[in-house]
Amino acid sequence: MIGVFGGTFDPIHFGHLRPALDVLQGLPLQEIRFVPLRTAVHRSQPVATAVQRLAMVQAAVEGQKGFVADERELDRDGCSYTYDTLVSLREELGPERPICLLTGLDAFGELPTWYRWEEIAEVAHLVVMRRPDANEPRDPELRRWMEPRMAIEPQALAHAPGGQIYLQDVTQLGISATAIRSQIALGLSPRFLLPENVLTLIEREGLYRRQAPTSK
Ligand code: ATP
Repeated sequence: MIGVFGGTFDPIHFGHLRPALDVLQGLPLQEIRFVPLRTAVHRSQPVATAVQRLAMVQAAVEGQKGFVADERELDRDGCSYTYDTLVSLREELGPERPICLLTGLDAFGELPTWYRWEEIAEVAHLVVMRRPDANEPRDPELRRWMEPRMAIEPQALAHAPGGQIYLQDVTQLGISATAIRSQIALGLSPRFLLPENVLTLIEREGLYRRQAPTSK
């Protein structure tokens, strides 16, 4: 069983890495692929280039067994749709291998706005990372859709290639890439919010110093 965690990762930080480790340790997963997107669909475009963000993801996963950087979106022109990424992974892994798409609870609440969202939920399982203070989706239609797909035990996901939803409790870390970029732009150190080797890359490339911090 493979996990997929997509994001801008501009830069990747402990708010991504620790919840992903909670998922890796909570589910019978062989690995989690971190997939930096190339062109954002639902938000403003990243500040660092795709190559820089991939290098930061590669540095961040170094030394953590089961964490893998996956560059498949970077070679694809146009918008980086999660659906296309999952189809490409499905082609690589074959029809039987379970795939788990990791999403935050907030992102999951927006699922019906995603490109081909119902097919996404067939191609893969959805592993929803629930932080202690997060509220479950209110939309009654989404709740009705979720209900028959909910898995109670994470082991259940290993018995089907996709189609189920599992809620995994994860560590709450109030870290965002936006805050890290803002600190650097202000000349402050973002140390202890992200891996040291990612910070080294940011400093070496002079990233985020002059850019106005972007927000969603
Ligand atoms: P930005 O501040 O630039 O919007 P971000 O820190 O939210 O970036 P993304 O790369 O956009 O990072 O996030 C990828 C995924 O990781 C998203 O689904 C997001 O909800 C989740 N995520 C980001 N920060 C955290 C955090 N501190 N805890 C848990 N999940 C997070």
